[in-house]
Amino acid sequence: MNPTIVSGIEVSNKIKEEIAAQVKLNSAKGMKTPHLAAVLVGNDGASKTYVNAKVKACEAVGFKSTLVKLDENTTEEKLLEEIRKLNNDTDLDGFIVQLPLPKHINEQKITQAISPLKDVDGFHPETLGKMLLDLPSFLPATPMGILEMLKHYNIPTEGKHCVVIGRSHIVGSPMSVLMARNSYPGNCTVTLTHSRTKNLQEITLQADILIVAIGKPEFVTANMVKDGATVIDVGIHRIDDASKKSGFRLIGDVKFNEVAPKCAFISPVPGGVGPMTIASLLKNTLLAYTHKY
Ligand code: NAD
Repeated sequence: MNPTIVSGIEVSNKIKEEIAAQVKLNSAKGMKTPHLAAVLVGNDGASKTYVNAKVKACEAVGFKSTLVKLDENTTEEKLLEEIRKLNNDTDLDGFIVQLPLPKHINEQKITQAISPLKDVDGFHPETLGKMLLDLPSFLPATPMGILEMLKHYNIPTEGKHCVVIGRSHIVGSPMSVLMARNSYPGNCTVTLTHSRTKNLQEITLQADILIVAIGKPEFVTANMVKDGATVIDVGIHRIDDASKKSGFRLIGDVKFNEVAPKCAFISPVPGGVGPMTIASLLKNTLLAYTHKY
């Protein structure tokens, strides 16, 4: 089978063009520029790369962006204080706190301190509750990006069996809810699998749509995938590669080379879900801005 590559670069570029056009239109009307802030605590290399990519994306669509860099030893109280400031900053439309945080900081407490009005990553309990009830709200950025990919490629979802691997609060769990919603993309019969799932391969072989967010490099192999399936790979891993200038390359949770020939559609890593997460963040920021003005 010759699979269609679900390109997050192509879809995210289209979304970014639409956002940039909207920003231009607003600015011609004398309206203010949408403003996104990112908080980065510590020196984690991957987190720095993600945050820099988010700031760059803001520039590309004409948003204002602010990067708040805090020391690795920043206390939970100091970070909460910073969040209160951002919540009260009337010029700011949305902000994110880049995860993971240093071990001494409680991530749940931080996520819950972000104003739901500025929760453009979509991790706040109020945001997730609204999603569950089909009420208008932000959607968590990565699952939202995956919906956009499915939509762009007109991938049929109604009545399909969608298997999600991984039940994290930011990807797997919300993804399973969204794929079961009464809308497109959605209307799937969903199986959510996790670390205690028995006979995983038996279940993945039944998947018309397989969404993989397990966080284990190349975990999904060809013998776990049905012919003609759609496979969306959320995982991102840096592995050493002396032939690269950076000294590393990126791979996903799916063994792309052997799985791709079985698929009707497959998303690559890099160039798949990653750019879509950023595009969703920008979309959510524009939504936060639009609600305010
Ligand atoms: P996580 O690492 O928090 O959790 C992994 C999940 O996998 C857990 O729910 C666990 O129950 C499940 N799991 C573990 N072993 C399993 C097994 N044998 N069978 C079935 N399930 C099993 O997950 P996460 O934060 O969703 O991240 C997953 C991957 O996605 C990581 O590689 C992460 O870097 C990446 N990620 C990428 C983006 C993006 O924008 N592309 C965004 C978020 C996360």
